[in-house]
Amino acid sequence: MTHIEKAKLLKLLYQHRAMGFEYFNEYRPLAQESPIALPQNLSELQKAVSACHLCALAKSRKNVVFGAGNLNATLMFIGDNPGVSEDESGEIFMGRAGELLTKIIENVLMLKREDVYIANIIKCKTPENRVPTPEEVATCKPYLMQQIQTINPRIIVALGSTSFHHLTGEYDTPIDKIRGSVLNFGQAKLIPTLHPSFLLRNPSAKKEVYADMLKVRSML
Ligand code: SF4
Repeated sequence: MTHIEKAKLLKLLYQHRAMGFEYFNEYRPLAQESPIALPQNLSELQKAVSACHLCALAKSRKNVVFGAGNLNATLMFIGDNPGVSEDESGEIFMGRAGELLTKIIENVLMLKREDVYIANIIKCKTPENRVPTPEEVATCKPYLMQQIQTINPRIIVALGSTSFHHLTGEYDTPIDKIRGSVLNFGQAKLIPTLHPSFLLRNPSAKKEVYADMLKVRSML
């Protein structure tokens, strides 16, 4: 916790004591719309996130997986949570799913992987690669939102349902019904598609992602 965050927390505690409260069960400043300003500079933000212990996933992670790519990218991919190989290396989208994403970027979008920026909804691996809980996402998501704000991409591709649901709050919309749609997301356009890990298990769905990526290519 930074000096400013500590000072703000102390002030809040004093205010609540003045109102008659004796103690707090829990205080998670990043779980709500955080009033605490995160660093806008991404290397400073990365340093802060590397030391983050705001949720229980910090206990079991080996490395924080911050994200990587072009800081001026027009196109940003957002996945769900780091897997085993990402946790081992600290690098985003490694392993077979990462190889497939790289092929999609190179062979369909005709870009290099370094041309785009890639991040996840949360920065630490979940046990058994389970879907992150809403609380974990709420705690971690301000980091991603700061990355989006700083990079300011024109197009965001949400990879898979976890990414789409937590970016938009459209929890009742299945990814297979919405994929390929062009949605408004602040100043950017958001296009949901299927996650590369899903494609590895369901190769017949590759044609759908191919169609979605052709749409992205036409918008670049
Ligand atoms: S998942 Fe996010 S909020 Fe939780 S410890 Fe990791 S960086 Fe912090």
